[in-house]
Amino acid sequence: MNQPEVKKPEVKQTVGFVGLGNMGGPMSERLVAAGYPVVGFDLAPAARERLAAAGGAAAETAGDVVSQSDVVILMLPNSDIVESVLTGEDGVLAGARPGTLFVDMSSSEPLRTRALAEVVDAAGSRLIDAPVSGGVKGAVAGTLTIMVGGAEEDLARAVGVLEVLGKPALIGGIGAGHALKAINNLMSAAHLWVTSEAMLTGIEFGLDPNVMLEAINTSSGRSGSTQLKWPNFIVGETYDSGFGLSLMLKDMKIATGLAESLGVPHTLSDKAVEHWSAASGDLGPAADHTEVARWLRERENEGSGK
Ligand code: NAD
Repeated sequence: MNQPEVKKPEVKQTVGFVGLGNMGGPMSERLVAAGYPVVGFDLAPAARERLAAAGGAAAETAGDVVSQSDVVILMLPNSDIVESVLTGEDGVLAGARPGTLFVDMSSSEPLRTRALAEVVDAAGSRLIDAPVSGGVKGAVAGTLTIMVGGAEEDLARAVGVLEVLGKPALIGGIGAGHALKAINNLMSAAHLWVTSEAMLTGIEFGLDPNVMLEAINTSSGRSGSTQLKWPNFIVGETYDSGFGLSLMLKDMKIATGLAESLGVPHTLSDKAVEHWSAASGDLGPAADHTEVARWLRERENEGSGK
């Protein structure tokens, strides 16, 4: 007699998640909702509690995450912190299962990522870089652009996980994703600055910002700044994109540092870094990156056009 085919439930990899902030929080929760066993850690207790409330397992240390996981996602502020978590004094690399795949989704420094991959390899694990674009909104919706650098076979092991978070695309070898992400954000930051100066000029002339944006968004001046940032976070003065000014400035400096090390001109880019640094110094570490528009408007009110 023919037996009915019994479908085995698909066994999902255990996903470790270190860094449960503005981006890592909603990303880890998406993985929980998609049925992955997720074990996560963040220095902030509130972030750990949020993951536990969403159905994930909150670990007490990053080491506890790594010892239980097949794939470990890092969503941390920068290369310094990524390196300290993996290879610092209490670095977790030594406690990883053989063949553990680390996926650095932070916006880290490409040359440091290349060097780190060699250390990870020597310890018997693997590393790919997979930074993202699309902001907190994209993290919540699972629509992030994911720029992957690394070996194709390593990406193959993580692709199911990454597809829950957005659209992964292999950009090149290790560090390629981090290079492209920094380059993208340098462009995005320069666009936001010039867009804000241009919009404030129009507003001062008496134009309605919404009318301006509608026309510009079908004209050649459009960008992510006119299509998303000004309409969603600046016109209504909420300045709550969820992407910190200091993180944007970090990415800009990664890109100009890369241009410098490769001998590529970066004159206008340096000016952009100078302007963003001045705003960052005044607005402080907690500022949202869209607050540069408010900062510029305050300069205008002080009567300084320069
Ligand atoms: P965030 O500051 O909100 O989150 C970072 C988290 O890392 C915090 O919760 C912090 O407590 C935690 N953390 C710091 N050191 C730690 C450690 N040693 N161990 C464990 N946890 C630690 O930052 P974010 O906005 O989520 O950004 C994370 C990364 O993603 C950054 O590299 C950023 O540049 C990049 N990024 C952010 C956005 C965005 O829109 N926010 C978009 C694309 C890329």
